Amino acid sequence: MFTEKRFPTKRPAGKNTAPRQYKSYNVKSPLGLEASVRHIKTIGPNRATLLERSYGIRTVRDFLYHFPYRYVDRTMTVKVADLHRWKPGVVKYITVAGRVEDVQCRALRNRDIKMMPFEITISDRTGKFLFTFFRPRYIVESFWMNHFRKGDLVAISARFEMVDGKLKYNDITYDRLFEGGMQFSTGGIIPLYSSTQQLQDKGMWSSNFRMLMRKVIPEYLYLFDEIFPSDILRRNNLILLSQAIQEMHFPISMDSIGRAHARLAFEELFFTELLLGMRKKKSLAIKGIPFKIKRTGFPKKLLSSLPFALTESQENVLREIMEDMKSETPMNRLLQGDVGSGKTVVALYAMLTAVENEYQCAFMAPTEILAEQHYKLLKLWLDELNVEITLLTGSQTQTERAEKLEQIVSGKAQIIVGTHALFQEKVAFAKLGFIVIDEQHRFGVMQRMKLKEKAAGELAPDILLMSATPIPRTLAMTVYGDMDVSTITELPKDRKPVITKIVARDKSKELKEFLVSQIKHGKQIYIVYPLIEESEKSDLRAAVDGYEKMRSETFAELKDRIGLLHGKMTSEQKDAVMEQFKNKKLDILVSTTVIEVGIDIPNATVIVIVNAERFGLAQIHQLRGRVGRGTEQSYCLLRTEDEANQRLIAVVRTNNGFEIAEEDLRLRGPGDFFGTRQSGLPEFRFVNFAEDKVLIEQAREEAFAILEEDPQFIFPEHQKIRLEFERKYKKLLDTSST
Ligand code: ADP
Ligand code: MG
Repeated sequence: MFTEKRFPTKRPAGKNTAPRQYKSYNVKSPLGLEASVRHIKTIGPNRATLLERSYGIRTVRDFLYHFPYRYVDRTMTVKVADLHRWKPGVVKYITVAGRVEDVQCRALRNRDIKMMPFEITISDRTGKFLFTFFRPRYIVESFWMNHFRKGDLVAISARFEMVDGKLKYNDITYDRLFEGGMQFSTGGIIPLYSSTQQLQDKGMWSSNFRMLMRKVIPEYLYLFDEIFPSDILRRNNLILLSQAIQEMHFPISMDSIGRAHARLAFEELFFTELLLGMRKKKSLAIKGIPFKIKRTGFPKKLLSSLPFALTESQENVLREIMEDMKSETPMNRLLQGDVGSGKTVVALYAMLTAVENEYQCAFMAPTEILAEQHYKLLKLWLDELNVEITLLTGSQTQTERAEKLEQIVSGKAQIIVGTHALFQEKVAFAKLGFIVIDEQHRFGVMQRMKLKEKAAGELAPDILLMSATPIPRTLAMTVYGDMDVSTITELPKDRKPVITKIVARDKSKELKEFLVSQIKHGKQIYIVYPLIEESEKSDLRAAVDGYEKMRSETFAELKDRIGLLHGKMTSEQKDAVMEQFKNKKLDILVSTTVIEVGIDIPNATVIVIVNAERFGLAQIHQLRGRVGRGTEQSYCLLRTEDEANQRLIAVVRTNNGFEIAEEDLRLRGPGDFFGTRQSGLPEFRFVNFAEDKVLIEQAREEAFAILEEDPQFIFPEHQKIRLEFERKYKKLLDTSST
């Protein structure tokens, strides 16, 4: 195999002999992957401490997993004369190799200037070229001036480009061509390692990492035992782990980096899926409530009292939910559906089925505004049915709360809507059997568990999680890998798609005219301001300033018909403003992102999002869902100076939340999707969720197949998987249970 040709690995005599013990770490000898990095020659205790502080690198294994952050492709080399003949318009990353003719550092008069020019002249048979780099003074003086000597063979790589008739170069890297007699680094792909200032101060530069890796890899590589049986490797076209580690550091081609990366990503995914699969299996072993599904009683009454018929998609997801409720294993289902797709009514139907079975239901929402709105809406629907519903939030008075708690514990309240207040210790239920969690990504695993623990008796409650943030399939398979997923795929038929437009800075006049004409037609408008910084204060500031300006300048004639809503208001204040807006006492509602979820006012047909480029796509899509709730044409106007913003263009192009989610994933990575739920999952270093779709499916299939075929990990070919699983997830397994 090519890897072994380049770096002959040293294997101890005999197949299964444990590495021998050596007294001194100066002897070139592996002590094992779990040995401290300080055993690597030249690292020692000081650097070891810094490595741990900077990157959490403690063991040799950790060290070998400190992979390059970038590679320089030095497979393209040119002659010095080619630099002098560089053509305008050509931008290329290339390498020149030659002998050092001269090195200089020009002392600068001002000692305060930290960077210092270091000049190096290189020559080959075709000519000479002078390069200038700027580096910190002390490093130039103490290192560069000594490092390069006349006559040394060196390679310099950079991106070259002709600018105003002068040859410019940037992205420079450089290396001596011989290190310890071994030809080094040119004509190949050079790994660059990240290093912190502290490590650099102790001489651990990218190039030092590279040199160390060169030495350490051949000594330790054989210790990376292959964990996967050969059929898994073959089926999924994976290279060996040891090969992958080698290729990550010293790839033979840019393509081989991809294969190494894929192998590491597969492994990461495989173990995550194994964890999820085990959780799922565990939850299947728990007994849940086998609800009797009656198409009579409350659920039926609900359907006949609705002013609309359910969409086909709503019917489908209800069928899936009813199957789960009927079964003896507890439901753990995620209901996905775009904003306005009608998840609430589906949840209500399911809750009424539980009520019909004489169980209590908890309906949890992430904010007070949303909880209150759900409460009001459900109350309206439930009034005719004679089902008792109550609301529990953090801002209620002591007496109010005591009364509510009494209703809950006595069983008088059948459906309890609430915020985080629901899973506080004092809340006790008479007979909780069904839990709905709206906007579930805003809650953590632990919070859900706390609520679950409040359920009645031996049988676990059914849980329905809801999300209006559609999540790309690749992510759903990992983030929600232990749940079942139902998706509402269509919007109710009477909806007109919201028209979305980017409105540039210089179109203020047109925007104002448009808004005024909408108001003249009796329509209402939201104007949303972004979070400026992390702090809530400045979030408030932008909205308040905007509000003041509108009242005094832009819409001075509407002065008293503009309202302000933000997170710092008490819930009574918020309520009062919302009531005013709802009752058309206000034409414009200026707001921070608190209106993101939950506000349902069909007469509001325009939403203006200020500094739209600061919002996530999913968030804009959510906000857009605040309009278009009636039968009138609605508009979402994105104010921005960045008209060419690709992300904004994506929201303009489509109203489909799933497409937007894919785009968000592609452009911003998976961070936004994980939310608090990530606490229950390991971190991903190698997976690219926008691109590794096939890999994710393969890893899931393999992991689930093993759990199916050998759940106890008894087969000999699964022993290494078991050990690795324990090694990787020991901490996670200790701290989390489902
Ligand atoms: P979301 O999925 O965003 O939570 P909601 O449940 O708030 O959506 O529903 C949005 C609006 O659509 C509500 O006013 C609801 O009454 C209405 N609705 C729900 N289902 C239908 C349907 N099948 N036909 C017409 N309107 C519906
Ligand atoms: Mg909703």
